[in-house]
Order: sequence, then C-alpha cells, then structure tokens
Amino acid sequence: MGRMDVSALRYLSRDEMRTLQAVEQGMKNHELVPVELISSIANLKHGGAFKCLSSLLRSKLIKHDRKHYDGYSLNYLGYDYLAFSTLSKRNIVRAVGRQIGVGKESDVFIALDDSEEREVVVKMHRLGRTSFRKIKEKRDYHQHRKFANWLYLSRLAAQKEFAFMRVLRDAGFPVPEPIDQNRHCVVMSLVDAYPLTQIKHLRNPGKVFAKLMELHIRLAQCGLVHCDFNEFNVMISDGEDITVIDFPQMVSTSHANAAFYFNRDVECLRVFFERRFGFQASSIPSLADCGVRVMDLDKLVAASGFSREETNMFDEAMESYRQKSAHDDMDAGEDRSSGEEEEEEEEEEE
Ligand code: ADP
Ligand code: MG
Repeated sequence: MGRMDVSALRYLSRDEMRTLQAVEQGMKNHELVPVELISSIANLKHGGAFKCLSSLLRSKLIKHDRKHYDGYSLNYLGYDYLAFSTLSKRNIVRAVGRQIGVGKESDVFIALDDSEEREVVVKMHRLGRTSFRKIKEKRDYHQHRKFANWLYLSRLAAQKEFAFMRVLRDAGFPVPEPIDQNRHCVVMSLVDAYPLTQIKHLRNPGKVFAKLMELHIRLAQCGLVHCDFNEFNVMISDGEDITVIDFPQMVSTSHANAAFYFNRDVECLRVFFERRFGFQASSIPSLADCGVRVMDLDKLVAASGFSREETNMFDEAMESYRQKSAHDDMDAGEDRSSGEEEEEEEEEEE
C-alpha cells in the first residue's frame, strides 16, 4: 500500500488530534506555525502541546523547521489523516486500501464505504508536489502569496473537481458518481474500466474514437473544455464504454485559450489512436464546429461555491500546470513522496 497508513489513525489521542488540527488552522496564515500559536489554538498547556507535537513528528504527520524560523507545518500525511478522519466521522469511508492511481498531481486509493458493501475511490489531490515551483516563479505570485500553499491549492483542486463531477453527472455525462469531498479529498464511485493508456487492443477503435469526439463536442456545447482529455483520463470498460475522469483543469469555452485547449485534446487522442490502434481519423472537430450552446455548465460550476478570488488564484495556478504538455503524465511519479524534494521546495519558500 502507499503512504496512507490509516490503521494508525485510531492511535491518535484526543490531544494529538487537536494539536494536528491546530497546525492546520495555523497554516491559514503561517507557512510555519509557532508552538505558542499551536498551544493556544489547541487550548493545551505549552508542555502538553510539545508532547503531542513530538509524537505527531514521529509519525511524520507534521514536520518541524527550525532553520529559518522555529515552527511546524503539516505533511501530506497529516492532511490525509484530517480529511480521512472527517470522512469516516461522516460515515462515508471506513477503510482505505490499495493505491490504484499514480497521477502526477494526486494519489488515488480504493476504499470501503461505511457499510463495507461498496468499494469507492478516494482521490487525494497533491497539487504543488510537482508544479508548485513553477507557480511560485510567476511574476504576480506575491500578490497571492498568503494563499498559495500546497494545502490551499490541493483543497481548491478537490473542490473544483467535485463541483465539476456533480454538474457533469447531473447533465448526463459519463463521469464517476461524486460521493463526498473534504479538504483535498474527493470520494467517488469506482469505475469498472481501465485507463485507455493501458489498453492494447480495441474491437472497434473507430467507434470509440467517434464516441470520444462526440463527447468532446457535447461538452463544448455545454460550455466546457476538459483540457486533459487524453488516454490517461479516459477509462474504457470491457464493453468499450467510456468514462471521463480528472476535472480540476477544465475551463469554460469562453476562456481566451479555449480553442487551443480543445484542439490539443483532440490532437492527443488522434495521435494516440493512430499510434496504438493504427486508426486514422478521417475528420476531426474544432471548437468552431460545435455550434450553439445548449447549456451553461461553466456558469453552473462557477456558481457552486468558489469565491472570485479563489477561482482566479486557482486558475492562475492551473494555467502554469496546463502549459506543460499533456504527455507530462508519462513521467508521473518521478518524485512522489520524496522528502528531499519537499524540503528543497520549502527552503525556496523562505
Ligand atoms: P491525476 O489528476 O493525478 O491524473 P486522475 O483523476 O486522472 O488523477 O486519477 C489517476 C488514476 O487513478 C487514473 O488514471 C485511474 O487509473 C485511477 N482512477 C481515478 N479515478 C478513478 C475512478 N473513479 N475509478 C477507477 N479508477 C480511477
Ligand atoms: Mg489524470
């Protein structure tokens, strides 16, 4: 199994849990949270907080930096614990099992729902693990500095993904069923299919390609471009039915670069079908061919809970992410959970 050792969750004492929550809360305004603030938020005596902090440190839920400034911050593992503990309190998931997905910006696990009758998927967004550095290099970064940490970006990614999944599902698009969302986690139904990239043979590649293009056009008619519509985010069942996943980077068709993203998505799949299945598309769609709008799903999503500031901040972050080729997905996992990398990034932040 991956990095999520849920079994240790029940060994956190009430004070440890409060201390962990206090670190999280402190990180809203601090990259490193001083111990005085932690003990005051957790409402523990200084010594009590220290004891909890050192046990949280030992379990790698938090880290301690005293090089530049004496303070604590959450690790992904700590954030995972907080989210999972909320989801299990809400009776959404009971146990997290094996890791199924290695995305470049997420860890995806199978979990059992509370009744243990159904396997569900928990996607933990890890925005910032690989692209945070790029975001930070942006000129206008400082304007948003107090918000732009991985914790915040990962939470926004999960909120945005959940909002899109809900709207798309309601509109009848073939996407997983959204179940719940907390912090950087999205819980959704398990799709009984494989990512297209793992599929060596299709009975009818022409038909699947046509269905994909139809779907892409229908999305655009509803006001949306996926922006990462490729062999990694299209799942194909044994019956060769399609399910689309992975929505944090979607944009409205009114986005300035919508036509570019639309074409790039088409081109990715066209090239993939040619190389993998020897299928040559006779015609490919462009955004201009999509005709009139039939729905404004982009506006529906926009109305579903993001503040303007959050949307701008997040879209700016995603923009730098999108500029990388969609095929970056290939080198997913190169620096996953590398403590050194995280350390390095942190030093840059000071
Ligand atoms: P990333 O943004 O990191 O690319 P994805 O949403 O694409 O994350 O998920 C990564 C991988 O996890 C997918 O390629 C797929 O194999 C698997 N996966 C994600 N969601 C589901 C799901 N609902 N059902 C089955 N597998 C899934
Ligand atoms: Mg993906």
